[in-house]
Amino acid sequence: MIDDIAEKVYAGERIDVEEGLRLFAHPNLAELGMLADFVRRQKHPEDVVSYNIGRNINYTNVCWVKCDFCAFYRPPGSDEGYVLPKEEIFEKIDELVAVGGKARRGSEILMQGGLNPKLKIAYYEDLFTSIRERYPEIHQHCLSATEIIYIAHISRLSLEDCIRRLRDAGLDSIPGAGAEILTDEIRDIIGFRKDRTEEWLAVHRIAHGLGMHTTATMMYGHVETLEDRMEHLRLVRDMQDQTGGLTAFIAWNFQPDETALGADRGRWDGRKSTGYDYLRTIAIARIFLDNVPHFQASWVTQGAKIAQVSLGYGVNDFGSTMMEENVVSAAGTSHTDAMTLQEIQRLIRDAGYEPLRRNTRYEFLN
Ligand code: SF4
Repeated sequence: MIDDIAEKVYAGERIDVEEGLRLFAHPNLAELGMLADFVRRQKHPEDVVSYNIGRNINYTNVCWVKCDFCAFYRPPGSDEGYVLPKEEIFEKIDELVAVGGKARRGSEILMQGGLNPKLKIAYYEDLFTSIRERYPEIHQHCLSATEIIYIAHISRLSLEDCIRRLRDAGLDSIPGAGAEILTDEIRDIIGFRKDRTEEWLAVHRIAHGLGMHTTATMMYGHVETLEDRMEHLRLVRDMQDQTGGLTAFIAWNFQPDETALGADRGRWDGRKSTGYDYLRTIAIARIFLDNVPHFQASWVTQGAKIAQVSLGYGVNDFGSTMMEENVVSAAGTSHTDAMTLQEIQRLIRDAGYEPLRRNTRYEFLN
């Protein structure tokens, strides 16, 4: 029974970790969806679902960290490693401009890569500055806490100096990638060379302190427990209470193909998380994270149909057009096929909502 929790939610009260765990144990998914939709409608009462015209650019796949859940990276020295030439990055942005129009500041590039030992702060300053000069209307939503920690480390900078220099060069906001599950015990199992929980949080806190917005993510469905998922949500909620700098939360499940973790039955049980688990997780996150304004569907991992259904489970945003995806598709997931802007709009309309274009700050664009 979750009547007492439902009463709290309907009264606008915050639920605690123990109540979140009781929601995970609740078998009636539709009831969780109703609660999550209630919370969503308190923040966004209109039948509107936003989307962003953006494109992913993976500027390098070279990474020494070798996370066991990752199929994207190539180790330094690999023949398959690359760093995209600037001209190629410009060509990709030109393609985005062709889709999104140049008239308004509203289109976004989400540029991320591996932890490449050859790329220090000067590389990023030059790249961001060049993009800002050439495409002043494009929002640069780039890197991740993991990349920024490494750039600071190899450039011998404090995190704050590093983020400030990146911002001054043109970095507008920071995606929440690299959070995975925010407990050091789980990080040790799935990617022990990766940054610590407190380091991921520190990057976001510092960025918020510098006036930048970021998002938070969660990659679940590997070796974590439900308690770990709730601890992750608690840390995100506590940080948001302190800074208010998160614009959105995005969750997706571990994509196992071609990964070391996916092949290791000693660590992972081989059972890929289901659509029900996604809907349950996103609904509970929406109920628990009462201070995060926007929830994005992860259509690239869940596919169009579950993404559509998630709009009734607390999600109010369909994310970006992406135009290109190399990270989860390396792990065997390829829902990017045929997901054009028109298809995103059709899926939103078909689910009963009006699609509205937004910018990265979640301001609607007419
Ligand atoms: S998840 Fe990121 S840090 Fe880890 S191996 Fe892949 S690219 Fe490197």
